Amino acid sequence: MTSSSPSIVLFQTDLRLADNPALSAAVRRGQPLICLYVWDPKATGYGMPGAASRWWLHHSLQSFSDHLQAAGNDLTIRIGKTVEVLSHLLRDFPKSHIFWNQSCEPDGQEIERDLLTLLEAEKVEGHRFYGNTLVAPSTILTQTHNPYRVFTPFWKRLQAMLRSSPPLPAVRKIPPQPSASLKSVPLDSLQLLPTIHWTQGIHKSWTPGEKGAQTALRKFLRAPAKVYAMDRDRPDLPHTSRMSPHLHFGEMSPGKLWNAVQQAKQKNRKAQDKKSYDAYLRQIAWREFAQYLLFHFPYTVHEPLYTDYQAFPWRNETDSLRTWQQGLTGFPIVDAGMRELWHTGWMHNRVRMITASFLTKDLLLPWQKGATWFWDTLVDADLANNTLGWQWVAGCGADASPFFRIFNPITQGIKFDPDGRYVRKWVPELADLPSPWIHHPWETPPLVLAEANISLGETYPQPMIAHAAARNRALLAYRQFKKGKSSPSSSFSKEQGTMACL
Ligand SMILES: Cc1cc2nc3c(=O)[nH]c(=O)nc-3n(C[C@H](O)[C@H](O)[C@H](O)COP(=O)(O)OP(=O)(O)OC[C@H]3O[C@@H](n4cnc5c(N)ncnc54)[C@H](O)[C@@H]3O)c2cc1C
Repeated sequence: MTSSSPSIVLFQTDLRLADNPALSAAVRRGQPLICLYVWDPKATGYGMPGAASRWWLHHSLQSFSDHLQAAGNDLTIRIGKTVEVLSHLLRDFPKSHIFWNQSCEPDGQEIERDLLTLLEAEKVEGHRFYGNTLVAPSTILTQTHNPYRVFTPFWKRLQAMLRSSPPLPAVRKIPPQPSASLKSVPLDSLQLLPTIHWTQGIHKSWTPGEKGAQTALRKFLRAPAKVYAMDRDRPDLPHTSRMSPHLHFGEMSPGKLWNAVQQAKQKNRKAQDKKSYDAYLRQIAWREFAQYLLFHFPYTVHEPLYTDYQAFPWRNETDSLRTWQQGLTGFPIVDAGMRELWHTGWMHNRVRMITASFLTKDLLLPWQKGATWFWDTLVDADLANNTLGWQWVAGCGADASPFFRIFNPITQGIKFDPDGRYVRKWVPELADLPSPWIHHPWETPPLVLAEANISLGETYPQPMIAHAAARNRALLAYRQFKKGKSSPSSSFSKEQGTMACL
C-alpha cells in the first residue's frame, strides 16, 4: 500500500499508546502511519543515556513495538541524526505530516528546532503536542513574565491551570504503514544492552513497558498510596510508587498518573488517606517543576542555576569519589544507598539526598560528579529530575536546601531506617549488628562487634572521614566563598529565599 500523504509520529520519551496526544491525533487523521524512533549513537554527554537507562530503553522499545504490532502497525527504528532521518523519509513520502510530543530536554529542544526548519524548507505540516508534562512549560510565567524559580508559587499557578479532562484512551487500532517495504533496523543493532552481564539485579527489580507501568501504579494505589505522606521518607519500606523510570520513558503520561491519583482520592473518604494522595500529587508537581526549569534554563545541566556558585571551591579528587561510588565510605546508610543503586538501578529519594549531601558537603566534591554517576547507574536517570535533585542538595539550584544544611548520615539513618532493615539488606556484612549500633558501627563496643563477626577496617570500612570535621570544613569553605564574593548578585540573595537569611 502506498500513500501520498502519510503521518509520521516521532517518538522520543513517550513510548506508550495511552494518553499520547501526538499518536492519537495522527491516528485520527486516518492516513497510513509511520511510528518512528531514531537512535543517535553519536550523541555525547547527557545526549547519550547511561548504561542502566540504555538497558531500560531496549526493553521499553521491545514492549512498545509489540504493542504497536498488536494495534496493526510496527515501530520503525532508524539510526542517525533525527532531522536527517526525517529528511530522508520525506524524500520517499514528501507530503507527510509530522507529529510529536514536546521534549523539555536540551537535546529534544534542538531536535525540535531542526525539525521546524525542515518543515518550513520542505513545506510540510508539523503538529506539536504536550504529552510529557501536565501543562506546556512556556505557558507558566510570573506576573513579570519570567519563569518561576521557586516551587511554591509555581505549584499554585500549576494547580490553577490544570483542567480535569480525562486522559486520552489507549489507541487500539493504528492505520498500517504507507509501504510494506519501509525499512527498520533491528532493535539489537542499537546495542543498548551491556556486553558484560551486570544487569541481573536490575532485571529482577523491574518490568519496563506500558504494562509494567500500569501494574506498578495499580500496586501503589492498592495500599502504599494511602500511607505515602507518613512513610515516603522510609527507605526500609516499599511505600513509594517506583514510577520514576516509567515516567521518564513516557510509558505512563503524567496526566494519566495525575488523573488516577485524583480519582483514588475522590473515592476515599478518610482524611488521612486524602492527605497522602495530596502529598503524592505534590511530588508529581516537583517532576513538572524540574521539566519546567530544564526547559527555561537548559544551561543548568552543567552549571548551577545560580551562576555565582560556579566559583565554589569544590575539591578535585578521584579516590574519595570512587569510594563513594563503591559504597565503601564506612557510613552504613550512604553505603546501603550506593549499593542499592548499583544493584537495582534505583535509590530511594531520602537516600539520594543523604548520599548527595555526603558527596557535596562531607567530601566537598562537585555535584556534577555525582550527577554523572547517577546518570550512568539509574534506570530512571532523568536530566530534569537529576539536575534539580543535585542542585537542590548542593544548595545552588531552584528552591535549594541552603548549603549550610548538611545531612548527618548517622541521625538520618536512625530517623529514617530505625531498625536498620535497609542497611542490613544492602550492607550484609553488618547484618548481625544490633539496631542501636547499626548506623555508627565505629562506636560499637568491641565485644558487640566481635559477636556480629565484624572487624572494622577488614570486613567493613572505618568511616572515611569524621562527619563533624567534614561538616566544619564544608561550612568554612562556604563562609570563605561567601566572603570572597565582592557583592552578592541579586539573583543569589533575593530569589533563593532560604539563602537570603544567611
Ligand atoms: C540527588 C538526586 C537525584 C535525583 N535523580 C533523579 C533522576 O535522575 N530521575 C528521577 O526520576 N528522579 C530523580 N530524583 C528524584 C527522586 O529521588 C525520584 O524521582 C524518586 O526517588 C523516584 O522514586 P518513586 O517513583 O518511587 O518516587 P515517588 O515518591 O513515588 O514519587 C512519584 C514521582 O514523583 C516524582 N518525584 C518524586 N520526588 C521527586 C523529586 N524530589 N524531584 C522531582 N520529581 C520527584 C518522580 O517522577 C516520581 O516517580 C533525584 C533526587 C535527588 C535528591
